Amino acid sequence: MTVHFPFQNSYSALPDTFFARVAPTPVAAPRLIKLNRPLAVQLGLDPDVLETAEGVEILAGKTVPAGADPIAMAYAGHQFGQFVPQLGDGRAILLGEVIDRDGVRRDIQLKGSGPTPFSRRGDGRAALGPVLREYIVSEAMFALGIPTTRSLAAVVTGEHVLRETALPGAVLTRVASSHIRVGTFQYFAVRRDTDAIRRLADHVIARHYPELSGTEQAYHALLAGVVARQADLVARWLLVGFIHGVMNTDNTSISGETIDYGPCAFMDAYDPAQVFSSIDEMGRYAYANQPRIALWNLTRLAECLLPLFSNDQEKAIEEAQDILGAFPDIFSQAYQAGLRRKVGLFTERDGDEALIQDLLDAMAKNQADFTLTFRRLGDAAGNEDRASDVRAQFMDPSAFDEWAKRWRERTGLEPQSAAERQADMHAVNPAFIPRNHRVEAVIQAAVNNDDYAPFEELVKVLAKPYDDQPEYAAYADPPLPDQRVLRTFCGT
Ligand code: AMP
Ligand code: MG
Repeated sequence: MTVHFPFQNSYSALPDTFFARVAPTPVAAPRLIKLNRPLAVQLGLDPDVLETAEGVEILAGKTVPAGADPIAMAYAGHQFGQFVPQLGDGRAILLGEVIDRDGVRRDIQLKGSGPTPFSRRGDGRAALGPVLREYIVSEAMFALGIPTTRSLAAVVTGEHVLRETALPGAVLTRVASSHIRVGTFQYFAVRRDTDAIRRLADHVIARHYPELSGTEQAYHALLAGVVARQADLVARWLLVGFIHGVMNTDNTSISGETIDYGPCAFMDAYDPAQVFSSIDEMGRYAYANQPRIALWNLTRLAECLLPLFSNDQEKAIEEAQDILGAFPDIFSQAYQAGLRRKVGLFTERDGDEALIQDLLDAMAKNQADFTLTFRRLGDAAGNEDRASDVRAQFMDPSAFDEWAKRWRERTGLEPQSAAERQADMHAVNPAFIPRNHRVEAVIQAAVNNDDYAPFEELVKVLAKPYDDQPEYAAYADPPLPDQRVLRTFCGT
């Protein structure tokens, strides 16, 4: 049996300034750690064949499958506010695109597959820890219902990569509805290549916004579309306590998917100022700053699109500002609607926003666990006796009592039964998130003991985040003080 990838490549048919053709560098002794079988099926790939030695060699970059057209994509980007005119795939290679079972075009990319012309001083490789982190967190995001790139497979290479110490090397197979970023547009904008910007915009419209094809002011609508998807995405992040960690423009996807899980993490205790990245000293990418940064990144995209808007630059700028101006409202509507659902409100009334903000303020003041507070609140909505479980999340439990009284009065105005309210809340308030201390423990077991049982179990639990799964209740627990992970490191 040979592995058949039904490739239909479109990006590699764009002008050759868009990428560098480069094959993955073969590795010594690939071994499969994990194959995402349901995703393989979704992509039209045979999971049994992918698990054979030949399949694993492909997933490790040792063999290039028929029909692949391997390329490293060119892009630029603002990293922590600093513009870098050339970044590009320094350790990732796009094998090609397939049309999935729902008719959606998906990139299949190897990450950690060896050097490319964009590697600069990097080795083009990835260490096992970050590969497992990306696998776990991206698949958890998918299960939570949040747009994201996916993980098809993780393999170890049988080689070491040199970081602070020598670590086992690994390759992640990443699947995305595309890997086009704000930084891809910036790459051509800084080179004043308006033709390329137009080609790229047309490609993006055909691929991600086909309804705009051939319409008047399609490029304006494209910007508006990306603004809307990013605003919605960041609202969803906040609603589950997610901190991306490195919201650089090269890590901002045009399709509106979460991309590049480096030093990302889900918060335990609610703290709007929380950062995770060890290099984010200014708190630029702190939890509560994410909407502002998304808008900043979108403004960089708008700048790239100006030449497509109007020859009159002032007019073009005005139009761009109008479109960007929609962001705060789109974000805030999505965020507030999400919060209302989190606290079990079916309708919208004056005072709701303040009621919810008071809960968040009390949570922050009392170091209440973000995930558990909302999950237990759902339990309490179903059964008043469970209110003690919510109280227990607060350092000073009386801070919850005062709020709970107002909440009961407010929910009492709605006709839904306790059971209905609980079910609706449980459908949006996960019991299980990829807690950082769990992810760290999984990585330690894999890296130090070649033990992947903890990884398998964590992935399994996170696949059903909204189910109680009583046999795995411990996975819902926040870290003990000595288990707390305060910083995560960039995905290199
Ligand atoms: P990231 O922080 O993963 O978003 O990467 C930022 C840039 O650095 C991208 O252009 C990456 O391709 C590049 N990069 C990161 N790690 C490596 C590496 N080990 N080798 C080569 N390039 C890398
Ligand atoms: Mg990146």
